[in-house]
This record gives sequence, C-alpha cells and structure tokens, in this order.
Amino acid sequence: MREQEAPTPEPGRGRKREKAGDQDGKISGKALGRMVEAFMRFPGIGRKSAERLAFAVLGMPKDEAAGIAQAIVDLKNSSRYCTECNNITEDEICGICRDEKRDRSLVCVVEEPSNILVLEKTGTFRGRYHALLGALSPLDGIGPEDLKIEGLMARLRTGGVKEVIIATNPTVKGETTALYLSRLIKPLGITVSRIAYGLPVGGDIEYADENTVQRALQGRREM
Ligand SMILES: [Zn+2]
Repeated sequence: MREQEAPTPEPGRGRKREKAGDQDGKISGKALGRMVEAFMRFPGIGRKSAERLAFAVLGMPKDEAAGIAQAIVDLKNSSRYCTECNNITEDEICGICRDEKRDRSLVCVVEEPSNILVLEKTGTFRGRYHALLGALSPLDGIGPEDLKIEGLMARLRTGGVKEVIIATNPTVKGETTALYLSRLIKPLGITVSRIAYGLPVGGDIEYADENTVQRALQGRREM
C-alpha cells in the first residue's frame, strides 16, 4: 500500500509525459484519472493544471487531503443563497443584508456572489447588493426569467432605494444586462448608475487595449 502512495512529481518527467500523452493520456490509475477530471471542472483549469493539482493531492499527507474533501462537502451542505440578495450565506439572510448600518438606499447589482466578495474587499461600499446569478445571453438562451431580476424588482418596489449601481461585467453579456436593467428600473424613479471603466491601477497605457483606453477617456472626471 505504502509503495503505491504518492509518487513524487518530477518536473522534467512530468513535462515529457504531458507531451507524449496527448492522445491516450498517460495517466494511469482510475482514481487519479477521476481526480484529474474533477479538477478540470473548475473554471480556468485545463488538463495540465488539473494533473498538477492531482499530483499535489497525491503528495499530501492523508489527513490534509481528507480535510480538503471535507471542506468541499461542508461548503455544499452549509451554504445557500441569501433570500434577499442571493449572496452566499449559511443563514437565510446574509450578514450584509442583516447589517442595519449598511445604507438601504444604495443597491449594487452584480452578476455573481463572488463579485460581492471582491467589492467588499475594497471596504468602500456601504450599501447593499443584489446578485443576479448570471447575465443575459440571448445566444445561449439565457433570458431575464433565468436571472434573479424579479427579486431585485420586488426589493426596489418596496421603496427606500434611491440609487442602483450596476456592476455587471464589462462584457457583451454584462452590458446587455446593464442596459436591460436600466430600462426596467428608471421608470421607478430610481437613479441608475454604471461602474466606471478604466485602466488597471499600476498599469501602463501602452499595454492597454483600444477599447479600455477609449472607455477610460469617456469615463474621465474633473480633478
Ligand atoms: Zn443578502
């Protein structure tokens, strides 16, 4: 049993194997193959990264690997969407929605709950959020009824919200969604704003694409 455990990954050998194994995949062992397939389900993880992660798991002490597996199970068992804003929470209502110190008159709309985490890290936004759980994409058959738009409108209709900041992604889907929402929300007499586009902080104009530079120019502000 022990001898079969944890072959130490050798960088040189691993690289060779990846190149040679393009066709039939030289990974041996069903469990290892399943682990690789499992990692490939994660966003941004291709076969090579998945193999590297799988070998990293193999190289771990057993209890550490078991801890990771348990963390996945616990996350799935204990997490749910906030009934108010669709943030990830372990309770019915998330901590942000429960926080009475947060400004109720300001709602920031994002595509995914993970975006809330990013915005919260800035520590500058004191309003509340609403995650749509996706973006409009007519080509993929994703329409308004597939997103949490009705819940948002219900929140807005109860009153008290003065401004909605639309922080969907600067992509075709995100823009389509932003435009759709703005048309829906404005008739309620609520100010609709869109997050600014610009150059990455610490970046160099030289390396920015034309669209980004154009958006940064359009979004300029007086100093
Ligand atoms: Zn919430």
